[in-house]
Amino acid sequence: MNSPIAEQAGHAPKVGFVSLGCPKALTDSELILTQLSAEGYQTSKTFQGADLVIVNTCGFIDDAVKESLDTIGEALAENGKVIVTGCLGARQSDNGSNLVSDIHPSVLAVTGPHATQEVMDAVHRHLPKLHDPFLDLVPPQGIKLTPKHYAYLKISEGCNHRCTFCIIPSMRGDLVSRPVGDVLAEAARLFEGGVKELLVVSQDTSAYGVDVQYRTGFWNGRPVKSKLLDLVRELGVLARAHGAWVRLHYVYPYPHVDDIIPLMAEGLCLPYLDVPFQHSHPDVLKRMKRPASGEKNLERLLRWRDMCPDVVIRSTFIAGFPGETEAEFEHLLTFLSEAQIDRAGCFAYSPVKGATANDIPGMLPAALREERRARFMAVAESISTAKLQKRVGATLQVLVDAAPGMGKKGGIGRSYADAPEIDGVVRLLPPQKISKTLKVGEFTKARVVGAEGHDLVALPV
Ligand code: SF4
Repeated sequence: MNSPIAEQAGHAPKVGFVSLGCPKALTDSELILTQLSAEGYQTSKTFQGADLVIVNTCGFIDDAVKESLDTIGEALAENGKVIVTGCLGARQSDNGSNLVSDIHPSVLAVTGPHATQEVMDAVHRHLPKLHDPFLDLVPPQGIKLTPKHYAYLKISEGCNHRCTFCIIPSMRGDLVSRPVGDVLAEAARLFEGGVKELLVVSQDTSAYGVDVQYRTGFWNGRPVKSKLLDLVRELGVLARAHGAWVRLHYVYPYPHVDDIIPLMAEGLCLPYLDVPFQHSHPDVLKRMKRPASGEKNLERLLRWRDMCPDVVIRSTFIAGFPGETEAEFEHLLTFLSEAQIDRAGCFAYSPVKGATANDIPGMLPAALREERRARFMAVAESISTAKLQKRVGATLQVLVDAAPGMGKKGGIGRSYADAPEIDGVVRLLPPQKISKTLKVGEFTKARVVGAEGHDLVALPV
């Protein structure tokens, strides 16, 4: 099949692209868009203006599945030529056939996540590229969907765990770590392209290299182990040379994470850890089959704070998991207070189709799950508010995300304590000094003058 529209018109074929889901899915989108651009395809902001549409889907929770299926339906209605990729593409219907193809039989092709080549094969079949060597130019750092000054760096794909509430391993498979040299080469390109904050993501960042027995790779002619500690140290050295930040997400509290904390104290990565604890009670963690469920998480976390008092911990939790007793839930509230989690999010448990947790007895009524979530968030917010208040008077390094008019009317930024999209921000006041300007993607120092909700208010200095 060819592309009559693009070829007859003699213009570069245009692809509409919708990226749904988490940062891991976003990095898949970036790889596909980079490849499309490298091959001379253009992108279209509208479905009607495209010759073909790619939808990168999410299949994690029921709301995400609905959003993905609705988007595919919309793209089919408005364009008609649709390729589906991503987590939902790997889901099966109850009868064992592909869920997306069952619901939307007219899609041209369906792939699972992390399938750049398969997606490109489908694009080539349904929308062949025009040959134009000038169109092959692509920025060395590839196509980024994030603003120019921060980027996600995916270090592995898949997961060896089988948490009972999660269907990601059934969609993305077991852990596959990227070669350490490739990861570092990508990081170097990103820094050279102007990235000032690198967000390290994967399903289980602490497990990096387990699948390849921490094999030694090469970077710049030097041996480097495929191990989180070695990788973060190398990333930190690269970041330092570019005056940039490295932030770690999805780190499970394994003993070897203790070794990362001194790197934070040395300034090689931000003193910020995103640790998805999900619960504190050992019995609930066992029912969840969580990684590191046997670890003494509270002791570990307090030790991290001793080693690096500035460390900010972000975490997510589930309230009302099947069988959760009031005593188990109160254990979680006590943990939250004792651990002083800086940034906590909480979901009321909701069943996910295909998850083994659905077979655990003791499903709680929806009202009770929601009530526990609200109680959790009340405690979490009082901890967060008290912690933010303590920052008033401090001077922080802030990365500017928005600064209309060179910041003359103020702007929005983030400190080391704020990951983009998920945490609060620093609201920057108009600078008092007439010569002071703010620029997106640059750092400024700012003195904190107040706290509002999850945000700080600060004066650029
Ligand atoms: S660690 Fe658990 S929740 Fe995270 S991706 Fe693996 S199975 Fe899912």
